[in-house]
Amino acid sequence: SMRDGLPMRLLLLGSPGSGKGTQSYRIQKKFNISVISSGDILRQNIARGTKIGKIAAREIERGAYVSDEIMIELVTKELQNKQQNWLLDGFPRTIAQAIALDDRSAMTDRALNLVINLHVPEEVILQRIMDRWVHVPSGRVYNLSYNPPKINGLDDITGEKLTKRSDDNPETFKIRLQKHRSLTEPLLEYYAERNILITFHGRTSDEIYPQIERELLRRFGTGNLGIDD
Ligand code: ATP
Ligand code: MG
Repeated sequence: SMRDGLPMRLLLLGSPGSGKGTQSYRIQKKFNISVISSGDILRQNIARGTKIGKIAAREIERGAYVSDEIMIELVTKELQNKQQNWLLDGFPRTIAQAIALDDRSAMTDRALNLVINLHVPEEVILQRIMDRWVHVPSGRVYNLSYNPPKINGLDDITGEKLTKRSDDNPETFKIRLQKHRSLTEPLLEYYAERNILITFHGRTSDEIYPQIERELLRRFGTGNLGIDD
C-alpha cells in the first residue's frame, strides 16, 4: 500500500457560503478520504422524515443551530464506521462540540490534525448562496455562476433533481451569519491555540482550492492519494 503519509484528519471551517461543501468534495476526490458533513446528514434526515430530521428542519429553517447533544450523537456515530482518514464539514460548530470531539479523540487516539479555515469576503457570500443548488442525497453543490450543472436543475452524476435549501434566502442567511459569528468563530482561537489552524483567502472556491491542495500535499505527502497498491 502507498498509504505512507500521515493520516489526514481535517476540519473545514468558514462562514455559511464560504464553500466548505465544494472544497470537501474536491479534497475527497483528490485524497480519497471520507467526508462527514453535518449539514448533509441533517438534510438527508429531513428528506427521509426521521425524528431527528423533524427537529432539524425546524432549527435549520430559522437559521438556528441544532442542539449540541443531537449533533455530538449524530457525528460520533458516523465517525465510528470511518477509516483513519477523514474530513469533517460543519462539525464541530460550537466550543462544546469541539470539546466533545477532543474527548473522544483522546480515547481513540485519532485527533484532528489540521483545521482549514476558509475566508471569503462577506460581500460575495450572499450572492453565492442565492445562486446555489444542491443534490441532497450526495451533498453535491452547484453554483449557477461558477459551476453550473451540465443540465439545468439536474445532478451531473445521477441525473436526479437539484433543490434549493430552505435556509438559502437573505433573511435566514443573516441569522446564520450571526450564529456563526457568536458560536462558531470562537473555534478559530480554540484551534489556533492548539497550533492546527490554517486560513486561506479568496473570492471563489477555484481561487482557494489550489492553495489547500498544495498545503495538504506539503503536510501529508502523497501517501493519501488513494493509489492503494
Ligand atoms: P454552507 O453549507 O454554505 O457552508 P452552513 O455551514 O451554514 O453553510 P451547513 O453546514 O449545511 O451550512 O448547515 C446547515 C444548518 O444545519 C445550520 O445552519 C444548522 O442549523 C445545522 N447544523 C449543521 N451542522 C451543525 C452543527 N454541528 N451544530 C449545530 N447545527 C448544525
Ligand atoms: Mg455546507
